[in-house]
Formats: sequence, C-alpha cells, structure tokens
Amino acid sequence: MASIEFVKVTKAFDKSIIINELDLKIADGSFTVLVGPSGCGKTTLLRMIAGIDPQTSGSVLIDGKDVTDVAPGQRGVAMVFQNYAIYPTMSVRENIEFGLKNNKVGKAERTQLVESISATVGLSEYLDRKPSTLSGGQRQRVALARAMVKKPSVFLMDEPLSNLDAKLRGQMRIELIELHKKLGTTFVYVTHDQVEAMSMADTIILLNQGVIQQEAPPDRMYRQPNNLFAAQFIGVPPMNVGDLGMDGVRFGFRPESVTLSEEPGDTHYAIRGLIVTREMLGSETIYQVRLEGHSFMVKCTEDLFSVGQQVYLGVEASKIYFFGPDGNRISE
Ligand code: ATP
Repeated sequence: MASIEFVKVTKAFDKSIIINELDLKIADGSFTVLVGPSGCGKTTLLRMIAGIDPQTSGSVLIDGKDVTDVAPGQRGVAMVFQNYAIYPTMSVRENIEFGLKNNKVGKAERTQLVESISATVGLSEYLDRKPSTLSGGQRQRVALARAMVKKPSVFLMDEPLSNLDAKLRGQMRIELIELHKKLGTTFVYVTHDQVEAMSMADTIILLNQGVIQQEAPPDRMYRQPNNLFAAQFIGVPPMNVGDLGMDGVRFGFRPESVTLSEEPGDTHYAIRGLIVTREMLGSETIYQVRLEGHSFMVKCTEDLFSVGQQVYLGVEASKIYFFGPDGNRISE
C-alpha cells in the first residue's frame, strides 16, 4: 500500500504549462478519482505518478519517498488503460502470466498466483480461452489481472471502462469497488465521467485546466460545491444557475430541488413558467421550464406534466446556493 504526494509539481510540454506548482495528497488505500473535462490534465497527472512522463519540476512522493529518479518499473505502480493492452495470440492464462515469466518467478508460484488472481476477478473458467472469444468486460478483467500479478502498491487506471457499453460499465464499476475492498490497495482512477467518479470514489479530485477545483468525498462534492465549476460539473442535469442582477452574484439550485405544481404555491418562490421539453427516463422525468427568458431544468420522480403546460415552480430556500463574482460559493 502507498500514499502519493505531489509537492509543487509543474508539468510543461514545450513551453506550455499544463500543471503549475500543484500540491496534492492521495491517501494510502483510498479509491481516489481524478475527474474533470477533456484536456484538464488528468492523464498527465497519472503518467507523472507512473513515471512514464515525469514532471518538469517539483517532487512526486510514493509512500513518502521521492520517486523522481526512480524508473517506472521500480515504482510499485501498475497502470490499466482504456485499451486493454492484452496480447491477442496468447490465452488468458498466458496473458496474466506474462509479466511473471519476465520476472523469473518459478512455475509453481506462477500457477498459484494466476489461479488466485483469476478467481478474484472472476476469470477462472476462461483461463484457456483467447481474448478474442471474450466479452469486453472479461477482457478488461484480463487487463486488471495482468496488473494485479505484479502486486503493485498503487493501481493507476485511465478511463478503463470507456470502451464498454453502459450496462457492462455499471457492472464493472461495482466489480472495481469490490476489488478495491478486497485488495485494500491505493487506486487512482481517471475519468471524465462524473457518474463514475460519484459512484466509485471515496475521494474525488476535480480538476479544471490543471488546477484542483475541489477535493472531497462524493456527497460533499455534491452538497457543498466550492464554486460554480464544481456545482455545474457534478450532477445530471447540472445545477441551474441564474443571475441576481447585482454585483455579479449568482444563484443556483439543483434540478431535483424544484417542485412543480399546476397551482401557485403559498411560498414567494412559486414562479410561473412553461414546460418546453419533457424527457421521460423511467423512474424520473426531466423537464425544461422557461420563465422570463431563462430556462431551468427540473427533475421529477413523477411524470405529471406535458409540453406547453403552464406550471408553478417552487424551490426550498435552504436548497439555493449563492456564488460570488469570483465564482466561489458564498457559504451560509
Ligand atoms: P482527456 O479526458 O481528454 O483524456 P486529460 O484531462 O486526461 O484529457 P491530458 O491528456 O492530461 O488531459 O492533457 C492535458 C493537456 O496537456 C492537454 O491540453 C493536452 O493537449 C496537453 N498534452 C498532453 N500530452 C501532451 C504532449 N505529449 N505534448 C504536448 N501537449 C500535451
């Protein structure tokens, strides 16, 4: 197991600085998810931990030791990519065993390790099959098993589920959470998908343009966003934001914090609007409601309204957020 620390880490490609003097701590044994929009620097951070593409300046520490001069293979980390990096001509067993053979691990120990690891990831019955005969999820498990045989103290995962269909992705998310519990190893997982981040992380690190916007457990990230960026990145649909028309202060409320009714309510937040779109998703319906030139998204658990209908919106005062001109949340 290992903690990871960045101390004043800067990364530049040619002359363009992608990460500037970043300080960061990832706790030993945590499931930390780096999330943020495309190009914000997630993969760059992961590659610096792995040592594949080292920092321009500053230090990266693994388990308290500065690894700046330590080669990737000696850092005790294993990386799992979106493209599985498994050999198509080898069987599942040979794929998993490959790294061990290179490290001159004896046959008996190899067999024992391959068997126990393939049992952990649910591959025991597929050991003699070729990767081409496996499903996407099974192939992803082969890639995981290949990383696991190295017994790394840190797993680095770069969008490992993005090639899978939605159903399989959901299943693999649960499997990864279980795997993390079983192994107790530090997981650092990169995704641009906030649903993945929310469902798997014990800590989310939200990045934008190489800068950490917030670091928090998922529920805090959702309930107490630091700023407008965090408020609008986390949550589907994102938080509604409006302008108060005074000194650049903005307000926000989540689509699920709104109640709709056909009649005006008795609170002064009940404002008249018009349903302009309706999206029925099964257990919930998303409405777009237009009022006075603005439109807001509303998430309801019941499907009671239709497009063109006049409705009244109510938002509980305690569920309204305020943001200052700098975008930071004004806390109550
Ligand atoms: P995505 O979600 O799209 O994978 P990301 O957050 O992982 O994005 P990075 O791959 O870390 O983003 O890239 C961060 C920035 O660094 C981008 O602007 C990218 O263009 C730039 N970058 C990455 N690698 C290189 C490189 N080898 N040379 C020049 N610029 C690079």
